[in-house]
Amino acid sequence: MQEFPNYIDGEWCMSAVTRPNINPSDIRDVIGQAANADAADLDRAVAAARQAAPGWAASTPQQRFDVLDAIGSEILARKQELGTLLSREEGKTLVEGIGEVARAGQIFKFFAGEALRMSGEKLASVRPGVEVEIQREPLGVVGLITPWNFPIAIPAWKSAPALCFGNSVVLKGAEAVPGSSWALADIIARSGLPKGVFNLVNGEGADVGARLVAHPDVDAISFTGSVVTGRQIAQVCAGQMKKVQLEMGGKNPMVVLDDADLDLAVDACINGAFFSTGQRCTASSRLIVTEGIYPDFVERMVTALSQLKVGPALDPQTQIGPAIDQAQLEKDLHYLAVAQQEGARLLCGGERLSLEPAGFYLSPALLAETDNAMRINREEVFGPVATLIKVQDYEAALAAANDTEFGLSAGICTRSLKYASDFRRRVRAGMVMVNLPTAGVDYHVPFGGTKGSSYGSREQGRYAAEFYSSVKTAYIQP
Ligand code: NAD
Repeated sequence: MQEFPNYIDGEWCMSAVTRPNINPSDIRDVIGQAANADAADLDRAVAAARQAAPGWAASTPQQRFDVLDAIGSEILARKQELGTLLSREEGKTLVEGIGEVARAGQIFKFFAGEALRMSGEKLASVRPGVEVEIQREPLGVVGLITPWNFPIAIPAWKSAPALCFGNSVVLKGAEAVPGSSWALADIIARSGLPKGVFNLVNGEGADVGARLVAHPDVDAISFTGSVVTGRQIAQVCAGQMKKVQLEMGGKNPMVVLDDADLDLAVDACINGAFFSTGQRCTASSRLIVTEGIYPDFVERMVTALSQLKVGPALDPQTQIGPAIDQAQLEKDLHYLAVAQQEGARLLCGGERLSLEPAGFYLSPALLAETDNAMRINREEVFGPVATLIKVQDYEAALAAANDTEFGLSAGICTRSLKYASDFRRRVRAGMVMVNLPTAGVDYHVPFGGTKGSSYGSREQGRYAAEFYSSVKTAYIQP
């Protein structure tokens, strides 16, 4: 049986307690046993990161480039194998799993380049004979806490900039997907990075996750996950005045206007709402459609949805994999029931599927006759469930799109330059998509949202520097 141990101070170590890694496409398939770390494991990881921090902070751009580039190269070279592991434990299709692994590799390559491009500023002082220099410095020990839905890309998009800017790392991956973070740690372990600079701890959020957040020897926390957890983390960090970055949920709108290209709109909505089983923070969970195109759009969506093949992640025919686990499947079903009690009409899907072998399968669901007052349109479901909100015109669509506590991604399908430009300007979201799905983003540009979706500075691309480094201003009189 494969083991997924912790990686602490350059050593692999199992914890006293372990947890099975179950394949959501086939619940008889136990992929391996993962360490379930305790407080002592976490404390050792933080101590190792603290000890290693000054050495790595003093490393040269070339050393950082070499390490990050080597990690990126190995991930890319093994994307098929690692994508298979990822899809087996997370449930997204193999194409999506391989794509995610490739993205993780590209992120490491990007930050390898950033290590070489690190620069400061030199300005003349307002005082005679004085020079001013502004430089970026590492933060020290950074704690990274990641969710299950992108088991390698999110650990990569936090670890790569953390290391690039000279920090040491304690990563706590998500409980449900220990294989992908183990594979990443295994590659990092062979990259030439000095021991203790990168540590992986597998354990429960409420236990070792919370301890990592509150640990006095951790200088900053970058978290991706649910709003409920993010809120708790923000409070602890505020109490300690610890730097924190939170990426959380979404209730992302996709607006379809009367003048949209219908084929393109249906493709964008099927992809954005249902691919990766709807388990994406950027999923289009609210489809806001103007009256003129509504009947045709709905008919085409129902036809397209009924043709989607739900099945095991590793089956090449599969387009929609299973939910991650029993709890998520029950949450999906619960929200479908609540929506119907509140007056929504289920047009298709929403059925628990008994496939062979057994997994956590749900047919993709589309709900009509909904409005923004309903819970289904206010709370994140995180499954293959989308709603239809019928509106009169563009202004009503924009108002509905903005009527949410979230603000991660927002999309519009239209041929009108005027509406597309106006939407870009007035929609309250961190990412705007015109004639593209709300999910699916590039790896070299900032990622993040507004309102309840994000807190702190942006992740990814050059903007990652804002979180993973701090700025020092030096005044020099030669
Ligand atoms: P979650 O909040 O339950 O868990 C996320 C991580 O936090 C896990 O590693 C968990 O162990 C840990 N954790 C749980 N309680 C903790 C605590 N008290 N202290 C410290 N750590 C704790 O979220 P999830 O169910 O794993 O992931 C799904 C959520 O992630 C969705 O809401 C989704 O929208 C969000 N998400 C957001 C983004 C983004 O970039 N905005 C990307 C992917 C997923």
